[in-house]
Amino acid sequence: MPAYNRVLLKLSGEVFGGGSVGVDPDVVAAVAREIKAVVDAGAQVAIVTGGGNFFRGAELQEKGMDRVRADYMGMLGIVMNCLALQDFLEKEGVDTRVQTAITMGQVAEPYIPRRAIRHMEKGRVVIFGAGMGMPFFSTDTVAVQRALESKCDVVLVAKNGVDGVYTADPRVDPTATKLDHVTYTDAISQGLKIMDQTAFALCGENKLPMVVFGMEPEGNILRVVMGEKIGTLVSA
Ligand code: UDP
Repeated sequence: MPAYNRVLLKLSGEVFGGGSVGVDPDVVAAVAREIKAVVDAGAQVAIVTGGGNFFRGAELQEKGMDRVRADYMGMLGIVMNCLALQDFLEKEGVDTRVQTAITMGQVAEPYIPRRAIRHMEKGRVVIFGAGMGMPFFSTDTVAVQRALESKCDVVLVAKNGVDGVYTADPRVDPTATKLDHVTYTDAISQGLKIMDQTAFALCGENKLPMVVFGMEPEGNILRVVMGEKIGTLVSA
């Protein structure tokens, strides 16, 4: 039995690119297999994808672009990840719907929360794309908002190259240590950077638990869903 009935999985853009720009089909196929295993285990799954493997608005702004336009480019990049994931999920035989916060009827449904819940009840995976549809937000915050609105039991944050929340960035500070559990209050007051602060605050205010864990080794998403204690639990 899964430890959670309905989960919101946040996949950052880095996961799709396998570390480079664009989409790596082999990587996305492997992620799709992992998600299928979660569906087969009986959990309902919603997904929010990031888009950092294409564009991040703040980075384009540093190179001279208007922030608002750059953020919209970021949101369109996210949709490409959603379509790639949908394709590989359907190849695995998993029914999938993409819902976007920016309407684009030819490629996806519009974001309709009650319909998303209905899809999940029918065993379909729902992929929420185009972020919140608004500049100046990150997909971390969107993941929490969508989880709350679609009544998920937990936010699962799957990361590339890091296996949980550390006291500092382990890629920079060799003395950083991994935390098994951290409260939202501490995550915010200690300025832990693994998710953005708005996401931590929104989760904390609504007492929604979050598990941050690494994508390696394969099978970790299912392990977390089945209740194995890996990564870091962030809770009230
Ligand atoms: N973005 C946005 N509004 C949103 C979500 C995302 O403007 O509601 C833009 C923003 O420019 C962001 C980009 O989309 O940098 C990609 O999202 P994010 O950086 O969160 O992706 P990740 O880091 O998870 O790959």
